[in-house]
Amino acid sequence: MSAAPFDWDRGFALDFALADGLSRTAVSTKRRLSQMRGMYSDGAAFEALLAKEDPLVYEFYELGAPDRPGGLAFGTSVTYPGRVGREYFMTKGHFHTILDTAEVYYCLSGQGVMLMENPEGDVTQAPLTPGQAVYVPGRFAHRSVNTGDTPLVTFFVFRGDAGHDYGTIEEKGFRNLIVERDGAPQTVGNPRWK
Ligand code: MN
Repeated sequence: MSAAPFDWDRGFALDFALADGLSRTAVSTKRRLSQMRGMYSDGAAFEALLAKEDPLVYEFYELGAPDRPGGLAFGTSVTYPGRVGREYFMTKGHFHTILDTAEVYYCLSGQGVMLMENPEGDVTQAPLTPGQAVYVPGRFAHRSVNTGDTPLVTFFVFRGDAGHDYGTIEEKGFRNLIVERDGAPQTVGNPRWK
């Protein structure tokens, strides 16, 4: 990680610069549309959009928390507004490598939904709206979906050694999708879920 001025042994405070993520103190990881091939249900709409532009779908700021079981990793995630066909812009979503690791998200701005599901097939979702906290239980994969027309900004925190498993979702998808119907978000089953 970068040599950011975070003293994980003695503590620190930082200007979280919420309006623009952590741009003064950390570098974001960016996910453009071209990095999400196969993740949206409407493949034709995906290719049509990508032929015109390669928009930034989401980015997240991590601080490089040490990989220690007693530590906490935290940062912000920004999912931008947009759609691929009827499906809203979203993060890839992931399980934690230490599967039984919970996470808390706190919505700072924007409107959206947190999609969650566990390997046993339990599926749930929670609104992401400013001032609301969402508790993602252990074992649940999680994906942020922006259903509004402004950036969806959340603060997240989870145990520092949890790790991320993106591959399972890249392979299987989520069981549910959030799509626009008559101008409003609707949850529908994913016909391509494996
Ligand atoms: Mn997570």
